[in-house]
Amino acid sequence: MDMGKCTILIVEDEPAIADILKVNLSFEGYEIFCASNVANAESLIKGKLPGLIILDWMLPGVSGITFAKRLRKEKRTSNTPIIMLTAKSFEKDKIEGLNVGCDDYIVKPFSLKELKARIKAVLRRRAPALTDDAVSILGLTIYPQTRKVMGNHQEIFLGLKEFNLLHFFMTHADRVHSRSYLLDQVWGDHIFVTERTVDVHIRRLRKALMSGDFHKLIQTVRGCGYKFISFKSDCHLHNLKSKG
Ligand code: CA
Repeated sequence: MDMGKCTILIVEDEPAIADILKVNLSFEGYEIFCASNVANAESLIKGKLPGLIILDWMLPGVSGITFAKRLRKEKRTSNTPIIMLTAKSFEKDKIEGLNVGCDDYIVKPFSLKELKARIKAVLRRRAPALTDDAVSILGLTIYPQTRKVMGNHQEIFLGLKEFNLLHFFMTHADRVHSRSYLLDQVWGDHIFVTERTVDVHIRRLRKALMSGDFHKLIQTVRGCGYKFISFKSDCHLHNLKSKG
């Protein structure tokens, strides 16, 4: 996953609408892929997992709603945010769209301004690692836009992978992540590196965070993976602190 630039897949069979979306969303800094039907979309997703999907309901062949159900069932796409785009405006359709796991719903004709705002809101909610918002935890702050990290008002310098790793941790704190999950989320899928790579970069990240004592926020969970903690009351952190 590229942390700096979110990829959006537009599945829309009307070329005029697809073009407007492509031009406007590219201008916003998103990387855009377009598909005019579900088969096309599936092969694009096989090549690269998008950060968000804008999905038209009425498509030739397989409908958008059927595709949304499929995406939710697949492990690889089960968490990919989906915004349904459709001319249907009946309440029961909206409910059906949300029931199959779509994150939001926009009725055509729509305003681009509204769509952009909704994309941001969905990403913030579903994939905070893809937004540019600064995140602060226990005195450590990460600024994705400027790729800067500050710990107790001192800048901390990190390599590219360590930065992405820390950003992922800080936007997904207090959960245990396996090495393979971290590889998927931080290195991107279809990347062939071993799980040892994760340990190497965790070691580098901890070393860089040591100056401000922030390395203690990254816990090794034996047999499972790693966890970034955001509560000072966490007993493990307490123990480490008292050991001095
Ligand atoms: Ca259509």
